[in-house]
Amino acid sequence: MTKQVVIVGGGVIGLLTAFNLAADVEQVVVCDKGAVGQESSWAGGGIVSPLYPWRYSPAVTALAHWSQDFYPQLGAHLFSSTGVDPRSTPPGCTG
Ligand SMILES: Cc1cc2nc3c(=O)[nH]c(=O)nc-3n(C[C@H](O)[C@H](O)[C@H](O)COP(=O)(O)OP(=O)(O)OC[C@H]3O[C@@H](n4cnc5c(N)ncnc54)[C@H](O)[C@@H]3O)c2cc1C
Repeated sequence: MTKQVVIVGGGVIGLLTAFNLAADVEQVVVCDKGAVGQESSWAGGGIVSPLYPWRYSPAVTALAHWSQDFYPQLGAHLFSSTGVDPRSTPPGCTG
């Protein structure tokens, strides 16, 4: 088993990577130059479909469709594992 993984950047990509790796490595360390989840991941509007689907290749469109189908399952898994509901409005935001 890999002992330690260091991830630089605590946005949605780094945090989800850490979350998924945590079961398979002894320790996951997330380093960020500021607070986690405060850069573009904070600004994301929650749109899960491509804005211009006709502009993308079939491979990208297939990935987008897979991701859309997977999103409710991922949200439920995150909520049951962490108590954080990614579909809710974060504290301090109006929505
Ligand atoms: C206004 C806006 C609206 C958006 N709306 C949507 C949407 O509706 N749907 C959608 O799918 N996407 C949307 N996006 C895009 C989406 O938010 C991003 O693609 C996504 O959040 C990127 O995640 P990330 O983890 O790669 O980056 P980030 O969330 O930016 O995280 C990167 C992290 O790395 C850290 N970092 C950077 N450099 C260093 C360093 N040298 N050392 C240590 N740490 C470092 C930063 O502090 C940050 O915390 C939107 C983006 C914006 C700006």
